Amino acid sequence: MQLTVVGSGYVGLVAGACFADLGHPVILVDNDQTKLGALRSGVIPIHEKFLPELLRRHLGHNLTLSDDLAAAVGKSDAIFVAVGTPPTGTGEADLSYVESVARGISGAINDYKVIVEKSTVPVYTSDWVRKIILRNAAAPDSFDVASNPEFLREGTAVADFLYPDRIVVGADTPRCARVLREVYAPMTDGSYYRKEDAIPAPNGAQIPPPLITTSAKSAELIKHASNAFLAMKISFVNAVASVCESVGANVQEVCKGIGTDSRIGSRFLNPGIGYGGSCFPKDLMAFRAVARECGYDFQLLDEVMRINDDQRQRFLRKVRSALWTLPGKRLGVLGLAFKGGTDDIRESPAILLVQALQQEGCRIVAHDPAAMARAREVLGSKVELVDSPYEAASGADALLILTEWEEFADLDLDRLRKQLKYPIVIDGRNLYDPDEMAAQGFTYYSVGRTAATPAAPIKAAEAAAGRS
Ligand code: NAD
Repeated sequence: MQLTVVGSGYVGLVAGACFADLGHPVILVDNDQTKLGALRSGVIPIHEKFLPELLRRHLGHNLTLSDDLAAAVGKSDAIFVAVGTPPTGTGEADLSYVESVARGISGAINDYKVIVEKSTVPVYTSDWVRKIILRNAAAPDSFDVASNPEFLREGTAVADFLYPDRIVVGADTPRCARVLREVYAPMTDGSYYRKEDAIPAPNGAQIPPPLITTSAKSAELIKHASNAFLAMKISFVNAVASVCESVGANVQEVCKGIGTDSRIGSRFLNPGIGYGGSCFPKDLMAFRAVARECGYDFQLLDEVMRINDDQRQRFLRKVRSALWTLPGKRLGVLGLAFKGGTDDIRESPAILLVQALQQEGCRIVAHDPAAMARAREVLGSKVELVDSPYEAASGADALLILTEWEEFADLDLDRLRKQLKYPIVIDGRNLYDPDEMAAQGFTYYSVGRTAATPAAPIKAAEAAAGRS
């Protein structure tokens, strides 16, 4: 099938590269010339495992780049719209990019086309896209609008796309559903997974993945409801962590106890400094807004968002209680991305915390394996960005762990302690065991667990021996 993907951001670029790997010719359309120019000259704009390999395989062959939407639509059977849907000032999804693409598509329909929402959009968007295309004089039977929400996670986006838990196809006509089933046939019939050069399956992948066919409205709701549920799970466990802190229980033990219940499951039961990223915060606000518009007051979502904001405030209080006064303190920071494995800093709790600590007069020295270039654009020159966790720790009054990168969970603790001015670690991601940290000479604060302090002040002993 000839496909067009509109938007070459996190979702569009990954979707385009993966569709090409499934064997479809794909035209990737973007109106950002700088982005297209960079991609043409081999610059890969996002940090995603397997993406460089897929682009090397397909760019210029199965995957071509273009800024000409009309020409791409004319040649294609299905057009996937993967443009941004950012929040407006009042929390609704801003659908102006989607509308503009819908208008662009309408004049170029020369044969039956399926227009597919890949962007996360509120329920009723498919109706609106259809209306806009009809208003621009396309014949009613010359196209269908489908919803095919994307569930990929940044950091593991390629594997998530090719090995999904499920593919959701929201199609209101049998013809439209048939086209989308054909697009995903290499996955659902298993033929992609038998290819020698297929991207390797992650542990526990379901092969072949199930394809669920629904109405377009149900598919739109599935995406918003899924993200809201996952965010609710994170806020729930963060609220439980706060109770654990008050009573001296250990949230990791509590999570193990509740997560082993198969009705609950252990995934996303990770206490920390709250969710962020380009999806959960905006999708929750948009779901809240669309529910209100439809006559349902979804107050549960307000509480999920409130707990999430509160979680950062609690962490700030922890930093204050560990260090007493903040002005002039030098803080080493590990992690700026909104989660491990990505360079995306949109709505990153780490960035929000760094900004709050700067406002309180702290001097920040930070390291992130992938997000420093993007963080520099937001944080400016006041934050010192360094090349390793140990440099970030060097001479710091305390070390803060703000993103759950794998490499931060495996630090040389002896080396780290010797770098720090005071051996204090405040871990917003629970990467270490409190007893182990205390045994290594750290005063260690984490989330939902009692603070741990060393039995003997190793740092002082080292200083006395002239070793620190
Ligand atoms: P993004 O901002 O990274 O990319 C959007 C791209 O669309 C940009 O390259 C932009 O130049 C392009 N674009 C905008 N208007 C255009 C137009 N008229 N013509 C051609 N190109 C245009 O966004 P993203 O993170 O890829 O997200 C896209 C959508 O997918 C959003 O609705 C988002 O909620 C959803 N989504 C994102 C993720 C994720 O992890 N990022 C996961 C699932 C769903």
